[in-house]
Amino acid sequence: MADATAQLAKLQLDEETGEMVSKNELKKRMQKRAKKAATARAKEAKESAPASASAQKPESPANASSAQSGAASKAEPEPQLDPDAMFKQGFLASVYQERPVVPITRFPPEPNGYLHMGHAKAIAVNFGFARHYGGKTYLRFDDTNPEAEEEQYFTAIEDIIRWLGFTPYAVTYSSDNFQKLYDLAEKLIGLGKAYVCHCNDTEIKLQRGGERGSSPRYRCEHANQDVETNLQKFRDMRDGKYEPQKAFLRMKQDIENPNPQMWDLAAYRVLKKAHHRTKDQWKIYPTYDFAHCICDSIESITHSLCTTEFVMSRESYEWLNSALGIYEPMQREYGRLSVTGTIMSKRSLKKLVDGNYVRGWDDPRLYTLIALRRRGIPPGAILSFVNELGVTTTGAIIQIKRFEQSVRRYLETTVPRLMLVLDPLPVVIEDFESLDPSQVELTVPFSPKNPDFGSHSFRMTKTVFIDRSDFRDTDSKGYFRLAPGKTVGLLQAPYPIKATSFTKDADGKITEVRAVFDKEGKRPKTYIQWVPDGSRKLEVRIHDPLFKSEDPSSVEGGFLNDINPDSETVYTEALIEPGFEEVRSRAPWPEGVEEKGKCGVESVRFQAMRIAYFAVDSDTTDDKVVLNRIVPLKEDSGKV
Ligand SMILES: [Zn+2]
Repeated sequence: MADATAQLAKLQLDEETGEMVSKNELKKRMQKRAKKAATARAKEAKESAPASASAQKPESPANASSAQSGAASKAEPEPQLDPDAMFKQGFLASVYQERPVVPITRFPPEPNGYLHMGHAKAIAVNFGFARHYGGKTYLRFDDTNPEAEEEQYFTAIEDIIRWLGFTPYAVTYSSDNFQKLYDLAEKLIGLGKAYVCHCNDTEIKLQRGGERGSSPRYRCEHANQDVETNLQKFRDMRDGKYEPQKAFLRMKQDIENPNPQMWDLAAYRVLKKAHHRTKDQWKIYPTYDFAHCICDSIESITHSLCTTEFVMSRESYEWLNSALGIYEPMQREYGRLSVTGTIMSKRSLKKLVDGNYVRGWDDPRLYTLIALRRRGIPPGAILSFVNELGVTTTGAIIQIKRFEQSVRRYLETTVPRLMLVLDPLPVVIEDFESLDPSQVELTVPFSPKNPDFGSHSFRMTKTVFIDRSDFRDTDSKGYFRLAPGKTVGLLQAPYPIKATSFTKDADGKITEVRAVFDKEGKRPKTYIQWVPDGSRKLEVRIHDPLFKSEDPSSVEGGFLNDINPDSETVYTEALIEPGFEEVRSRAPWPEGVEEKGKCGVESVRFQAMRIAYFAVDSDTTDDKVVLNRIVPLKEDSGKV
C-alpha cells in the first residue's frame, strides 16, 4: 500500500489530455510535442518571416512576457516572486522616494456600485503601500453626489476590503467635511479665486474654446464680479435661492493654461436633493475637483495615489490646496488594471442581473469582487496577481486566462486534492473479494507532495464510480483510459482494473461496466479518478466565460449579443469521495490564511484531480452541497 501511494505521488497531470500519467510517460509526451511544435514553428517562420512581427496582437509588456514563457516553463517550478515586489520596485518605490515619510493613504470609492477587479488593484496599492511602510489608510466614501449613492454599497465595499485582508485605519465620509468645504469655498471667494457663474452649458463650452477647442478661450462677465457679490450669491446658493443650473461656483484658475483641468472648473452646484447622511441640510454640493484634494488635505494624506485618468487633474489638485494655503498631499498616478472579455460598468452589469442572464451581482461568471469571492478565488490569489503585474504608470489590459493562470498557480500548492466524478458511471469489480482487508482500507494523502496536508482514509467498494467520459465501448489506438479489454489505473487503488463487459439501456446509454483487477499486467499508462459506493452526491457548476469575444461592449447590437449560451454547465448527479467532509471542516483553504470578516463557504476549496479547482457555492444548504469551478486545471479546457 505504501508503495502504491509513493508511486501515485509521482503521477503527473498531462495538461493537454487531462490524464494522470507517470513522470516518464509525461516526459516522453512532452518531448514528442516539443519536437512537433518546433517543426511547426520552423515551418511557419519560413512561410511568414517578414509578416510575423506585425501579426502579433498588441499586448502590455507584462502580458507579452508571460505569453513567451508559455509551455516551455510549465514543467519547471516558477521562481517565487517576492510578495512585496510591487512596493519595492517601480512606481510605488519611486513615489516613496519622492516623499519618504510614513504614508497616510486613502481608498476613496464612490458608494454607487460593487467593486471590481480594477478596484482590487487600487485597494492593494493604497492599503498595501501604507502597510508596507508602517503607515495607515483611510477608507473614505466619496459621497459628495447624493444622486448616486445607495446604502447597500457602503457595507459591501467595507466587507470586500476586509475580505482582501486590509483593515481601514478609519472609515470616513467626504460628507463629514461639508461644513469645512463650505468654509474653504468662502475663503477661496475672499481670495478672489472663485466666482459665482450663471452661464449655461452652451456658453461654458464656448468659453472653453468651443468644438475641438477651435476658437479662443475667454472668461464670462461673472468672472469680473467683486468678492462681495460673489460671497452674497454663494450664500444665496446655499440658502436655496437659486434653482439647479441657475448658478454655480467656479474656481478662477488659468484659462491660458493648456490643461483643460485649469479652465475655471466648477466647485459647487445647486442640487436640491437630500443626502443620505446630511439629509436636507445642504442645497449645494461640492464637485469632485473641489472636494477631493481638500478631503485629502484634511486627512493629512501623504501620498494620494490614483489612476492615470487623473493625470490632468493633478494640476488643479495642487492649485486648489496651494491657493487655500492648506496642507498639500502629493498626488501620483498609476496605470489601471482592466480585464478583457468581460464588462465592468454598473449599468451593463445591472442589465445582466435584471435580465436573468446571470445568478446575481455575485454570479461566478462576473468580475465584481463579490463574484470572484463567490466563485472561490482566494483573496490572496487576487493580491498575488496584482503583485505579479507590478505597478507602473502604464495601464494593463489583461486577458481572463492570464488571471486564471495566476490563480491556478496560487492554488496548486495551497489546497488539498480530492476525487470527484461529475457524471458517474458504475463499475462493478467482479473479483473485489480477492483483495486483502488491508487493501480495502485506503489511506490517501491530501497533497501528493506536502505531508503537512495530512491524509484521510476511506474504504474501497465492489462498485466504484468513474466518470462517464473515462469509458468508451469501443477501444482505439491512442486511447489510454477504460474500454473493453483495456486496463486503466484507479488513482489511490491497489490495482488497475480491466473492463470485461458493459450494459446499455434502451436508449444506448451505458448503465454499468464490469471489470476485474489487472494484477499481473504492466503498469497502466494512465490513471483516472473514481469514488466509492455511498459517496456524497452534489451539484457541480462549471462556468465558462460569459462572453464569446474579448471585447463584448464593441459587439454589434451590444454586449447582450455576445453572451455565450453555454457559459454554465450544471452536473446534478456528481459524486465526491468521503475526504470532502474533512476538507470542509478544516476550511479555510489555503490553511492558516485568515479571511477577514465572514469566512464564507467559498473558503472550502480543493483540487478535484484531473478536473479543476472547486469551491463550495453560497447556494449550499443543509441538504445539498453546490460546487463552483474556480479555475480549470489547464488553460482553455473549455469543456471538461
Ligand atoms: Zn458665467
